[in-house]
Amino acid sequence: MLTVFGMSFTTSHSSLFDAWFAYLVIPSLGIGIISYGIEFVRKNNEMQQQLIKAEKLKAVEQMGAAISHEIRNPLTAASGFVQLLQDDYLSRQKRKEYLSIVKEELLSAERVIQDYLTFAKPSLETFEELNVKNELRQIINILQPLANQNSVEIITDFSIIGFIKGDGQKFRQCFVNVLKNAIESMPAGGYLTISTEFSQSCVTIKVTDTGVGMTSEQLERLGEPFYSTKGKKGTGLGMMVVYSIIRAMDGSIWVESEVGKGTTFLFEFQTITTTVKNQQTVRA
Ligand code: ADP
Ligand code: MG
Repeated sequence: MLTVFGMSFTTSHSSLFDAWFAYLVIPSLGIGIISYGIEFVRKNNEMQQQLIKAEKLKAVEQMGAAISHEIRNPLTAASGFVQLLQDDYLSRQKRKEYLSIVKEELLSAERVIQDYLTFAKPSLETFEELNVKNELRQIINILQPLANQNSVEIITDFSIIGFIKGDGQKFRQCFVNVLKNAIESMPAGGYLTISTEFSQSCVTIKVTDTGVGMTSEQLERLGEPFYSTKGKKGTGLGMMVVYSIIRAMDGSIWVESEVGKGTTFLFEFQTITTTVKNQQTVRA
């Protein structure tokens, strides 16, 4: 304004309009546009953050409601049967029957809590080098009795090397869930094939069963909290835990399934190159 004011004494009227335009209109317009742009980006970012937060809160809220519902059901049933047990004239046989129902209900409440706990802490606390082959062997050992019960034969084909980074506890939990589902999908027996492949950049783990398979709707809902087709026996939390662990490990999952034929789960993790190099020199 000072410049324009000074110029009004020295220059002619015709160029004064240009001066006004150059010194007053353009700068303020420019500043206006730039600050609008900055403000727009800032607002957008803020809104995005708020949206993420709201989504998270909503998820926690929904989980809370669903969890309390899932736990309340078996607890209500258990307390009902405990009340029946108070009857002094109850026969021994009935008493035994009621007690076993109470136990079953309490166990199912515990299963829900157990599965939820692993979900609630999806961030990995410890990162260690995991030998995929050893970890899988350990998990198979744990699940062998269950497989025998369902007359499922476990076939393995592991690559010699393959190290990934992650939390061992969580990795085992994840694959126990996947393999348990696979075994449970073959109540009349079948083959469970677990193979690993290793390349310079990634380790893939393939789990194939010859079980009941899933329809495309079931596939779509896989990993949804409390989505289970197993009625009272299932919690519907297993796959949700699997997805959250794999996400925390930066891995990916593909699922393929055909009703009546079986299901294949494919997992991919990044390899740790330094360790791989060490291994190769050891082998050489
Ligand atoms: P749950 O095992 O307690 O039912 P999950 O989250 O582990 O809960 O699994 C959810 C559902 O996904 C199961 O009820 C089942 O219908 C389906 N599912 C998971 N894995 C398989 C599989 N390998 N074969 C067939 N169905 C499967
Ligand atoms: Mg399961």
